[in-house]
Amino acid sequence: MRVEDPKLKAELSDLGVDIRSDACMAELTSLGIGGTTNLLRITKHESIPELISLLERHQIPYKFLGGGSNLLIGDGELPWLILQLAKPDPEIVIEGNLAHVDAAADLGRTVTFCAKHDLGGMEGLIGVPGTIGGALRMNAGAYGMQIGSFVREAKLSKKFCKGFVSVMRSGVRASRSGRKVPVASSKTLLEHLPDA
Ligand SMILES: Cc1cc2nc3c(=O)[nH]c(=O)nc-3n(C[C@H](O)[C@H](O)[C@H](O)COP(=O)(O)OP(=O)(O)OC[C@H]3O[C@@H](n4cnc5c(N)ncnc54)[C@H](O)[C@@H]3O)c2cc1C
Repeated sequence: MRVEDPKLKAELSDLGVDIRSDACMAELTSLGIGGTTNLLRITKHESIPELISLLERHQIPYKFLGGGSNLLIGDGELPWLILQLAKPDPEIVIEGNLAHVDAAADLGRTVTFCAKHDLGGMEGLIGVPGTIGGALRMNAGAYGMQIGSFVREAKLSKKFCKGFVSVMRSGVRASRSGRKVPVASSKTLLEHLPDA
């Protein structure tokens, strides 16, 4: 799938979207398979709702890519665009025992960053590859824990909503069954680690 229309390209650029024209999914997934398409890198995360509605208006199919560690993608020219969040700086902000984490942040690095700031609880997830957004979508788990248990709030962009929707604790897992619900960030509650 290619974005050819110059007007649409300009609108995407205004929304802070960089178009990578020949993205090969085999280079972006852990299994090293998958064909080619346009990859749209979203540098202004606040523009996600507008971006989604623009693509829907143009009837352009799209899929979200996190770290590519749980994807099996076919070969050849793909019939959809790939959307991926660019990593902001900073990716994580700590406030008390809450970590505000961007969905593009790497899960393992998030766990390490939090531990360095004396916040713990999610260490079992340190070896799960991928991003926070992908982990929320999959409700990633290891060693008897799942990321959903630590999330207090997630910022989602839903179809037909003009802005973001903040989903509080009880609703976060529901996002797993929903399709195409881009996650922009999450607020994760951790414990203060005991002194060594
Ligand atoms: C070696 C290896 C070990 C693994 N071990 C574990 C394990 O122990 N436990 C476990 O649970 N999983 C494990 N996995 C699977 C994988 O790491 C997890 O599912 C991970 O959470 C996927 O995250 P990702 O960012 O790579 O998502 P991707 O693989 O890129 O995408 C997965 C899904 O999430 C969606 N998605 C990605 N980002 C967003 C976003 N911002 N908003 C909305 N949807 C989004 C995608 O569209 C796709 O549907 C392992 C994988 C590998 C390769």
